[in-house]
Amino acid sequence: MGPQGCGKGTQAKLLSEELRIPHISTGALLREYVQKDTPVARKLKAIMDRGDLVDDEFLEKILEERLGESDCVNGFILDGTPRDEAQLEMLKRFLDFDKAILIDLPDEECLRRIAARAEKEGRSDDTPEGAKHRLEIYHTRTEPVIEFFEEKGILLRINGNQSIEEVFTELKEALLE
Ligand code: AMP
Repeated sequence: MGPQGCGKGTQAKLLSEELRIPHISTGALLREYVQKDTPVARKLKAIMDRGDLVDDEFLEKILEERLGESDCVNGFILDGTPRDEAQLEMLKRFLDFDKAILIDLPDEECLRRIAARAEKEGRSDDTPEGAKHRLEIYHTRTEPVIEFFEEKGILLRINGNQSIEEVFTELKEALLE
């Protein structure tokens, strides 16, 4: 977990290689889905381009489908979900959490990184307005979810304001503790 631009996708990928378990990014699953030229895909793409959250029913459907694949039997790294309390409740129905990783980064640095990513990757939701809106949603809807993991005693807080290598080192050390 962490604000947009904190590096969670990058770190999840590195961890996935290290632990040899799949990296399941709901954002990536959704971006793949909206490549289709169907009315549902077009509707979802518009929601994502605005920086809003897609509806829970659809999210649950694609997530259950993906987590049901055979490569997930030994565990997986979930990236981008839960985004709010309702999604946390949904996950609790079929998941047991081992650890939750939170990568902290101040908003100004998130916005700076998203602007740089927009130039490199051309993600259609990485506009200045889209990025600000997604950060707002993160603070109002996603941050409250962190408390659940904290109270459960499984939250690892990582400083995202370091190089990719430094963040990864801190992350691995925290996981081993
Ligand atoms: P991300 O790659 O995690 O930044 O996600 C990109 C976009 O996909 C988000 O701004 C949402 O529109 C959508 N999305 C990803 N994960 C979720 C989720 N768990 N719930 C709702 N929408 C999501």
